[in-house]
Amino acid sequence: MHAAQGHAEIAGGGIGGLTAAAALARRGWTVRLHEANTSIRAFGAGIYLWDNGLAVLRELGVEEMVTTGAHYGTSIQSRDGNGHLIGQVPINSSGSVRVLTVLRERLISALHHAAVESGVEIVTGSVAVAAEPEGVLRLANGTTAKADLIIAADGVGSQVRESLGLLRRRQALGQRCARLLLPRTDGDVPREIEDDYIEYMSGQRFLLYTPSSTEDLYIALVCSASDMQAMGGYLPQDEWSRSFPGIESLIRRLGPIPRWDDFEWVELSKWSSGRVAIIGDAAHAQPPYLGQGGGCAMMSALGLAHAVSESGRSIESALELWEATERPVIEHTQRFSVRVSELNDVPDDARREILGVAGRLPRIGKSRERAATTIPSGVNAPVAVGEPA
Ligand SMILES: Cc1cc2nc3c(=O)[nH]c(=O)nc-3n(C[C@H](O)[C@H](O)[C@H](O)COP(=O)(O)OP(=O)(O)OC[C@H]3O[C@@H](n4cnc5c(N)ncnc54)[C@H](O)[C@@H]3O)c2cc1C
Repeated sequence: MHAAQGHAEIAGGGIGGLTAAAALARRGWTVRLHEANTSIRAFGAGIYLWDNGLAVLRELGVEEMVTTGAHYGTSIQSRDGNGHLIGQVPINSSGSVRVLTVLRERLISALHHAAVESGVEIVTGSVAVAAEPEGVLRLANGTTAKADLIIAADGVGSQVRESLGLLRRRQALGQRCARLLLPRTDGDVPREIEDDYIEYMSGQRFLLYTPSSTEDLYIALVCSASDMQAMGGYLPQDEWSRSFPGIESLIRRLGPIPRWDDFEWVELSKWSSGRVAIIGDAAHAQPPYLGQGGGCAMMSALGLAHAVSESGRSIESALELWEATERPVIEHTQRFSVRVSELNDVPDDARREILGVAGRLPRIGKSRERAATTIPSGVNAPVAVGEPA
C-alpha cells in the first residue's frame, strides 16, 4: 500500500488519461478524471499492442483482460495492389517482438476497469477548457478544480494544451484514414495469409488488413487528403477495387464509413508547465504507421505517475525528470512513423525497392522496434520482451 500522495485532476478519458488515472490512484493519489463524452468509450475498431503497452497493462493488473481472445499474427507483410509480396517482418516468434491486436473497446474497458477499481472518480460530460500552471483546471461549466497535479490527456485537439501556449507544431500530414470493423469470412485474402497482418499499398492508397480476434476483422483505409474520389460516407468500391484488384471481394464488403480522420504530428516546446503535464496525442500525436500512438500514451502516463510519486522531488521538478526520461524514445518513434508516412508519396516501384532494402538492414528493424520494446519506467514486474503469451 502506498502512502497518501496529492490530488490530481485529469482532462480526457482515452488511453492516456485512463492509464494515468489508474497508475496515480494505485500509488496513493486521489484522482478525478473529466471526460467530455457522456460515457467512456472507444472509437476506431482495432488496435495493435506491443511489448511496451502490454507491460503497462500488466502493471495495472489488466493485461489478461485485454489479451484474452486477442489475435497474434505471425508476420507483418507489405503487398502490392495485386497481392504480390513486397516484404515481411516476422513477429511473435523467439527473438522477434511481441505484437497482438484486439478491439479498442476491450482495451478502453480494461483501462476504465483499472481506474474505477483503484478508486478514480470519473465525471462524464465534463469538458475541460484550460489549465493554469499553479494547479487549476477550468471546466466549460464555469467551475474550476484545484489540484497538486493537472494532466491534459484530451487528445490531438487538446484545449488544455492550447491554453498554456506549449504547442510548437501541429501539422496535418496530408493523409486521411477510415477505420471499419467487420466479421472475418473465408476468402477475404488467401487462406495461407489470413492470420497475418497485411499492408496493401497501391499508389497513394493503402489498406491495412488486421484480424483482431477469431471473429473480428479491422480494416484501415488510407489515402491522400486530396484524393476526393477515394473518400465518402459510403466507400467508392470501384475506385478502391481499381487500386487493389487482388482483394476486390474484400473491398466489396466495405460500405458505410463512420468518419475520415486526418493524420497529424504534434510537438510541444515543453511537456509541462508548472503543475500541468500534457500526455498522449495532446503532446505527441503521430501518424499510425508503427501502431504506437496508444503505446506511447500508456508509457508516458505510467512514467509520469512513477516520477511524481517516487522521485522525491517537487511536482514541477518531477515533471521535468519525467520529460527527460520519456521524451527521447517517444520522439524517436514519432519521427520514425513520420518517415514511414512519407513512403505513401513514393511511386510504387521506388517504394518496392526501398522496402526491400530496408528489410535487409537490421539497424532499421532495431530502430523501428526501439519504442515497442522499451519497457516504461514505473513497470516493476520483470518483463520477457518478445515472448508470446
Ligand atoms: C487510424 C489510426 C490507427 C491507430 N492505430 C494504433 C495502433 O494500432 N496502436 C496504437 O498504439 N495506437 C494507434 N493509434 C494511435 C492511438 O489511437 C492514439 O495515439 C491514442 O488514442 C491516444 O490516446 P489519448 O488518450 O492521448 O487521446 P484520445 O484517444 O484522443 O483520447 C482523448 C479523450 O479526451 C476526451 N476529450 C477531448 N477533449 C476533451 C476536453 N476538452 N475535456 C475532457 N475530455 C476531452 C475525448 O473524448 C477522448 O475520450 C492509431 C491512430 C489512428 C488515427
